[in-house]
Amino acid sequence: MQPQILGVPAKAPIARTDVSRGTCLHRLRGDVAVPRGTFKLKFHRPTDVPRETSCILLATLLTFRKLGDLLARIIAVANQKGGVGKTTTAVNLAACLAAAEQSTLLVDCDSQGNATAAIGFVKDPSRRTLYHTLILNEPFDRIVQKSQVDRLDVVPADKNLAGAAIELVSAENREYKLQAVLNEIRERYKFIVLDCPPALDLLTLNALVSADAVLVPIQCEYLALEGVSELLDTLMRIRRTLNPALEIEGILLTMFDERTTLSRQVATDLRSFFGTQVFQSVIPRNVRLAEAPSFGKPIIFYDLHSKGAEGYTQLAQEVIANAEKRTGTGARSAHSGA
Ligand code: ATP
Ligand code: MG
Repeated sequence: MQPQILGVPAKAPIARTDVSRGTCLHRLRGDVAVPRGTFKLKFHRPTDVPRETSCILLATLLTFRKLGDLLARIIAVANQKGGVGKTTTAVNLAACLAAAEQSTLLVDCDSQGNATAAIGFVKDPSRRTLYHTLILNEPFDRIVQKSQVDRLDVVPADKNLAGAAIELVSAENREYKLQAVLNEIRERYKFIVLDCPPALDLLTLNALVSADAVLVPIQCEYLALEGVSELLDTLMRIRRTLNPALEIEGILLTMFDERTTLSRQVATDLRSFFGTQVFQSVIPRNVRLAEAPSFGKPIIFYDLHSKGAEGYTQLAQEVIANAEKRTGTGARSAHSGA
């Protein structure tokens, strides 16, 4: 029998490629009756999304009850495999959560600074970043930036953060640096989303130690599970030592192309392997998602009608619903994380 890690076998199999079974996409229903102009997208820049068309999707988000006054749920978006949709997921999930009136903080933990750029910050060498608080101990309030999305704050990153991964090696409590920063401010937010770099380095370790849960995007492609068993191994070690409360928020299928047998097969295999740990929401391969970062906009402000916006809106719904369930049942107390 395979060893179990967080409820899944340690050695994840490589997805097969030769079967044509289909998989079911769960979509938002577009039949919600909403009066025109009832809801507004709040983006502090001109946007080409007509207000009335934004209503239907946002209404679905806004029907959720507000979460109570608990500490933020901290979700690390991690997979050491590159280009699987971590940043796209972190940015768009954070924006959808904020649009659903959940005050949210997005922390860019990657020296590539892709999340920082995708949310609309142009390069600015004088801007303070995560580096300044992690390494130079500058106060959070001097680092955090208001984004152009209402209720969404950002801790930016730039290339200097690459130095942090090295400088942390000799630091005292090096795995707990980010946790110490976030513990100070987590009562201010409902959600904190951490965008991790494509490596199991000290920055990713800091993110996983400070998180309540990890969200793992997996691209629906050949060798989809490459590296996942290594990630699960790391998660198990972190649970044993640094953060026993770490949960799996969910596995997210990204860049799904329903026209290809390969995508459908990878999705089917992942669902049969990971079961209910896979989100119902699926993120389709969608060119609008790839375009949005160059306009510095999350997808719901770039093209609300796109399949990509639909996918991330639905994901935010699932994340909020899971948080409500957790707080409702008391399965996770406000203090159980990190
Ligand atoms: P890295 O490991 O380098 O940090 P990542 O895992 O953060 O990468 P992203 O940067 O989110 O991955 O995505 C990689 C590329 O794929 C980007 O150009 C992004 O715009 C594009 N992309 C992400 N998701 C989708 C999607 N669902 N459909 C189309 N393109 C996508
Ligand atoms: Mg990235």
